[in-house]
Amino acid sequence: MTRIYLKKCPDYHYPKVAEAVTELLDQVAVERPLIKKGQTVLVKPNMLSCKTPDHAATTHPAIVEAVAEYFVKAGAKVLIGDSPPAVFGRAEEYWSRTGFAEAAKNSGAELVCFETITKQTIEISTNRQNHQVHVVKLAFDADLIVNLPKLKTHNLTRITGAVKNLFGLVPGLQKAVWHKVFPKSLEFSNFIVDFARHLPACITILDAIEGMEGQGPAGGNRIFPGFVMASTCPVAIDRAICRIGGIDENTISMLNRARKLNWGPANADQLEFQGDSPNDVKITNYKVPGRPVQDYLPDLLLNSLKKLVWAGPALKARTCIGCGRCKGICPVNAIDIVDKAAQFDRKTCISCFCCMEVCPVDAIEAHKSPLLNLAFKLRNFKKAFKRKK
Ligand code: SF4
Ligand code: SF4
Repeated sequence: MTRIYLKKCPDYHYPKVAEAVTELLDQVAVERPLIKKGQTVLVKPNMLSCKTPDHAATTHPAIVEAVAEYFVKAGAKVLIGDSPPAVFGRAEEYWSRTGFAEAAKNSGAELVCFETITKQTIEISTNRQNHQVHVVKLAFDADLIVNLPKLKTHNLTRITGAVKNLFGLVPGLQKAVWHKVFPKSLEFSNFIVDFARHLPACITILDAIEGMEGQGPAGGNRIFPGFVMASTCPVAIDRAICRIGGIDENTISMLNRARKLNWGPANADQLEFQGDSPNDVKITNYKVPGRPVQDYLPDLLLNSLKKLVWAGPALKARTCIGCGRCKGICPVNAIDIVDKAAQFDRKTCISCFCCMEVCPVDAIEAHKSPLLNLAFKLRNFKKAFKRKK
């Protein structure tokens, strides 16, 4: 059994958050000694977008501050770092808007920009090939990584919890390159797990006081589950998300891959909850993006139907400000800015949705072709029919 420490916390009022985080970390410390005085702790929140905390796209700064404060008080050197896909030398702006600059100042931690620090290359075997991946060396040099994901959905991997948050240790634009190497959801999910498996062991605290549903990881709707939870195993946290959100964990490719590698609990029945009950924080009707079409259509069929079956980015009318960030991040140059608005070349697009992640005004949404829409409707109809029976 793998332990999950769960604590209800209704809002981001700092004293309450600090109390909840301290309780969770104290419990984890009983299971596994955390640090000794003078050691280095790398705090890794989700800093996906240059957005304020009320968008629920990034880990809330109160969580970051409480975690950093805990380890500073324990005598550690605490570094807070992440690497958004489109940071482009604007790290200061990201730190400021997400509230992490304030969190670091208040707690006595330091901010580190992953783009400018030393990288290390690791070789991983994934999707039947060997690949070299550049990672921040700090991930291996730190005595402890504290992984701080946000509870969110994702258009490609369906959920973006603890395991996927570790992908942020790959600096900046290189993340988009991996989307190009593995454009299909299944291969990309395998890659994420194979990569995360190569990292040193971490502890995870999930920020689910507020979260996101629908078109995540950047353009979905805010929800208010009101809890935080911790574990020594990131796979266990992602399985707990499925249990609490009513998601069939077998439809999450990352979790299927983890099971294949014998990493973490094989299913949510192998979780042992301590503290508050998962039943008390159940998310009813959690809106998770449908399983990507690539996952359930055979390659042959997919290739022949390519023109009819697609999902890709589309511009919301009158929202785009023509900033060009989407163009800058696109790994296959499928975007042009024409008359101060983004235009997508569907033939070139690989549906990685990186553009959606970086848009500062949520001007991009995921669109499906009519045939794909029909397929989803039929699938939902079938599900509803089964439930009625
Ligand atoms: S247009 Fe957007 S979704 Fe398509 S490949 Fe470029 S970044 Fe990815
Ligand atoms: S779609 Fe978003 S990121 Fe792209 S140019 Fe418009 S506002 Fe900027």
